[in-house]
Amino acid sequence: MDFNLSSSLFVGEQKFNTFEPQKTYDVIIIGGGPAGMTAAVYCLRKGMTTGLITRQVGGQMAETAGIENYLGYRYINGLELADKFHDQVLQFGIDFENDANVTDIKDGLIKEVHLDNGRIFKARTLIITSGKLSRKLNVPGEKELTGKGVAYCAICDAPFYKNKKVVVAGGGNAGVGAALDLARIATHVTIVQRRDRLIADQVLSDKLKHYENVELLLGHVVKEVVGEHHVAAVRVENRETGELLEIPADGIFVEVGSIPNSELAHGLLELNDKNEIIVDEFCKTSKPGIFAAGDVTDVPYKQIIIACGEGSKAALSATDYILSNPNF
Ligand SMILES: Cc1cc2nc3c(=O)[nH]c(=O)nc-3n(C[C@H](O)[C@H](O)[C@H](O)COP(=O)(O)OP(=O)(O)OC[C@H]3O[C@@H](n4cnc5c(N)ncnc54)[C@H](O)[C@@H]3O)c2cc1C
Repeated sequence: MDFNLSSSLFVGEQKFNTFEPQKTYDVIIIGGGPAGMTAAVYCLRKGMTTGLITRQVGGQMAETAGIENYLGYRYINGLELADKFHDQVLQFGIDFENDANVTDIKDGLIKEVHLDNGRIFKARTLIITSGKLSRKLNVPGEKELTGKGVAYCAICDAPFYKNKKVVVAGGGNAGVGAALDLARIATHVTIVQRRDRLIADQVLSDKLKHYENVELLLGHVVKEVVGEHHVAAVRVENRETGELLEIPADGIFVEVGSIPNSELAHGLLELNDKNEIIVDEFCKTSKPGIFAAGDVTDVPYKQIIIACGEGSKAALSATDYILSNPNF
């Protein structure tokens, strides 16, 4: 394909262009999840020349079975919401690269974005919205039953387990926090923790004592998620004796950590001890002209509505940066 010419593609009644290597964009957004797509709408409506590069459209939303906490929709499938976001972005005429992987960023007054296929694009500002991945258990049944009882976000999915039995894998802050959320909704919660003690903050662990429906299974690991069309049980192993146990359950919440997609910022931007990009209240990173938003940052509570809010803030900050910079 000839990338020297901007070719217009039509999606429905909307238009987007492929990237132009010779152009210097006002803003390049890295990541096409809720943070990135919201940032795009704000940048485009501010008249910024805007490009968005993403591995995939929708981000984690596209992996979500049902969403009940994004306002405006009582219930919506994740893919459907991702489509609606995408549709809204495309109406403003954006330069869009899907299936594209950013591997490196070179800083300077004009920043360079390097893709794994050798292409390089330039911009005055960058907004990094590359999100995160949930750590997996990597056991049989997990992948097949994701969205059918295997869940990775208690804030998001706990209400679907009203009067049901659930397992929480992980005994850190995320696991114990999820168990506390679930204890008020589900009939029974079993925390499976590989170590012989919980590693959550004491104040959180102490709260578990208030719930009679929470059971602790220490020194155990999940070996398999069992079920045909939906989770029916979770098979765990006692690490000391090797004994296998099957816990009947309607769902399992995997709370064993997450991996921010921040590799492209390593050595360039300040990260915290979880490898999240540190941002201030304006979504500014440690480098002028580079902004970040959503799950890849150290902003607490990883949710769609929060990612959207942060994406809009990053876009407004990027716009202010350009307008107030005498070099542009
Ligand atoms: C199973 C599940 C269910 C959830 N349910 C809910 C819910 O019900 N309600 C709710 O509010 N939240 C929910 N969440 C959380 C919500 O999806 C996230 O908080 C939100 O998607 C974060 O948006 P983001 O744009 O910051 O990042 P992401 O959604 O992670 O998007 C990041 C994007 O960047 C792309 N990318 C990453 N690295 C690169 C790179 N190097 N180059 C190019 N592109 C890159 C990715 O491919 C992706 O498209 C759920 C999450 C999961 C995993």
